[in-house]
Amino acid sequence: MSKVNLEIPEVAIREVRLGSITGFQGSAKELVDCARCGKLKDKSRSFSQCLGCSTSIAACTTVLIQDAAVISHGPVGCSSCLHEYEFTYRVNAALREVKNPTQRKIYSTNLEEKDTIYGGIKKLESAIREVYKRANPKAIFIITTCAAGIIGDDVESVANVAQEELGIPVAAIFCEGFRSKMWTTGFDAGYHGIARKIIKKAEKKRNIINVVNFWGSDIFGKWFREFGYEPNYITPYATIDSLEHSSEAVATVQACATLGSYLGAALEQEFGVPEIKNSPPYGIAQTDRWFRELGTLIGKEKEVEEFLEKQKEKYMPQIEELREKLKGKTAYVTAGASHGHSLLGLLQELGMEATGAAIFHHDPVYDNEELDSDTLQHVVKDYGDVKNYNVCNKQEFELVNVLNRVKPDILFARHGGMTLWGAKFGIPSLLIGDEHFGMGYEGLINYGKRILETLENDEFVKNLEKHSLNPYTKWWLDQEPYTFLGGAK
Ligand code: SF4
Repeated sequence: MSKVNLEIPEVAIREVRLGSITGFQGSAKELVDCARCGKLKDKSRSFSQCLGCSTSIAACTTVLIQDAAVISHGPVGCSSCLHEYEFTYRVNAALREVKNPTQRKIYSTNLEEKDTIYGGIKKLESAIREVYKRANPKAIFIITTCAAGIIGDDVESVANVAQEELGIPVAAIFCEGFRSKMWTTGFDAGYHGIARKIIKKAEKKRNIINVVNFWGSDIFGKWFREFGYEPNYITPYATIDSLEHSSEAVATVQACATLGSYLGAALEQEFGVPEIKNSPPYGIAQTDRWFRELGTLIGKEKEVEEFLEKQKEKYMPQIEELREKLKGKTAYVTAGASHGHSLLGLLQELGMEATGAAIFHHDPVYDNEELDSDTLQHVVKDYGDVKNYNVCNKQEFELVNVLNRVKPDILFARHGGMTLWGAKFGIPSLLIGDEHFGMGYEGLINYGKRILETLENDEFVKNLEKHSLNPYTKWWLDQEPYTFLGGAK
């Protein structure tokens, strides 16, 4: 049965829709083997540190659209982290060659105590009108918060009435933080709103390929032009017009299946745009598989083979050199699910040893229900098992404990704030925000060089280790890292 249903305002959370989990400890192969055989059981923690919130993740899918506005319906504190997207938008604009990045349009209804008693609908209605007047957006997204969900404000009805009144799409996005232990549910909620209210049925096809991504550099433009296509990025730096017409694409690809699972399936099932099911192109084997699936889909198999041949000729000598330099170096990865798996593949492709991973959740299946989308199974098949594989929704106390034992040569992190824990132990730590940086053959060279630079320039972290205080005491560091996993009633 299809997991996509655009008839209803809310998308089911990942725990329910995909059977996703946030607690596991074992090896990557054990997780792959049990993920689809009915034996995958989430483990609770009897102690937990704070988690991320779906609201800011839903914002990630909407705030970076150039001509839209976003209203956080809730207490002002729930929108306090959204200003970071202004920074993200401006810093990464250069990667996508956006010359004049506009200011983000982010607002809050600022629900207060009395609103939780009398309701926040009046505030929301006037906020929508005010935002329309001030920002003149092409669409308005309303992201909900715990307070709005608990008091039961009918945000969907308000959005529908406002849409009629203003004549622009107004989408309610249900992403209250308490709905799910997986903040990635916010991606699905955001894309559900976009698929319901923005994307239009196609009347014709064009030579464009949708790319569901975060904010990475324009590598797909370079690749797709080789085959006569242009990328249509969703949603960073997109416009409401480009999103409306994403149904005219010949295919959809993703930078990360964790991110685009729902939208890729929605575009295929509801708008007839086929999705490339293979995991994104990180590492040689996966790059080849991904390009071949693309070639079959667009009817350019021969051209793709020629392209891959040229890539090998051009980049393999440098890749071999890097492998020689990095051989035997150990690395630990902490990241979101699919991208974290890609990083595990990438470092092993470069001859390094993966000593473990702390991955923020695990989806046993994606919305398209295809095994080819499971990045972790590709990594295990291509490079072998990864020991010390931990699924933890950013439980830093577990990460610190493991790092203290494993002491890798380098820590790879995907989220800001996580590299700190490696640095405090004197471990060179690498965070790369551009998720396209490691893609394809050239990506291996990009990453390999950056890893070498990080390993060679370790003076700062070595000094930091000497002078920093670790908030985690010997009491905790002497215990097993997963002492509290599986202990909840
Ligand atoms: S978890 Fe709830 S209260 Fe906390 S920031 Fe998210 S929406 Fe607001």
